[in-house]
Amino acid sequence: MVRQGKQLHLGRDVSDNNSSEQATAHPPVAVLTQVEKTYHLDAIDVPVIKGVNALVRHACFTVVLGPSGSGKTTLLNMIGCIDKPDKGEIVVAGCKVGELSDDALSDFRAKNIGFIFQNFNLLPVLSAYENIEYPMLLAGASAKKRADRVPKLLSAVGLSDKAHNLPGQLSGGQRQRVAIARALARKPKLVIADEPTANLDSQTGASILALMRHMVEYFDVSFIFSSHDREVIKAADDTIFLKDGLIQGIRRKGQGAAP
Ligand code: ADP
Ligand code: MG
Repeated sequence: MVRQGKQLHLGRDVSDNNSSEQATAHPPVAVLTQVEKTYHLDAIDVPVIKGVNALVRHACFTVVLGPSGSGKTTLLNMIGCIDKPDKGEIVVAGCKVGELSDDALSDFRAKNIGFIFQNFNLLPVLSAYENIEYPMLLAGASAKKRADRVPKLLSAVGLSDKAHNLPGQLSGGQRQRVAIARALARKPKLVIADEPTANLDSQTGASILALMRHMVEYFDVSFIFSSHDREVIKAADDTIFLKDGLIQGIRRKGQGAAP
């Protein structure tokens, strides 16, 4: 269960939206068309993603569900513009990312995509506050913008009282909350989380999923995450079932049975 404590603001962060945007129907934040990826190991080709068509809807909580080795990390890395497909097209936030140069792709990624990792990846010498602030510093955000946004993010993840703790002084669940806040620091269009609950006990994992779900609505942002645990279907809006690099089915909440 997510802690509905005094620091967790409910409802929407309206300052992050503008009314004309609200009025328009939003296109999907990511569209994958016939995406393929093959790794080359010594002289052997290892096809890993074998023709995937999928989309990540605006302000939706999407999970890629599949067993270990099914290609989840490979798929998320391509959506996150960390890796490129061999074939097919990926459009993120309206941009054909395959057409960008490496430099342009790095800029695009930093501006549009937030990342959450299985092992949190926080900088150990920085406090919770500073870890969240760090991507804004890298982006050259003004002191005023940082002072405005970081406390808001800390509050949204229920950690206002831990602002000055180092990662080593936080529990696993609290570290992942910091990582969620950090991923949102630059107001991305899409947040990607590869097995974000894999290093957490099931109760803490469930609270992290509930928090991410809440962030989708509160910050009007899309989240896509991966998991091998069917339990997560309950928390997601959309579930993409992946097996051996192929989509077995896509389930939208409230529609149809899971394959
Ligand atoms: P998942 O995240 O679902 O466990 P991955 O995307 O990590 O799946 O891996 C899918 C398949 O691709 C696995 O069989 C894995 O061994 C293989 N694979 C992943 N990365 C590489 C790589 N860099 N080189 C060769 N094979 C890889
Ligand atoms: Mg993986």
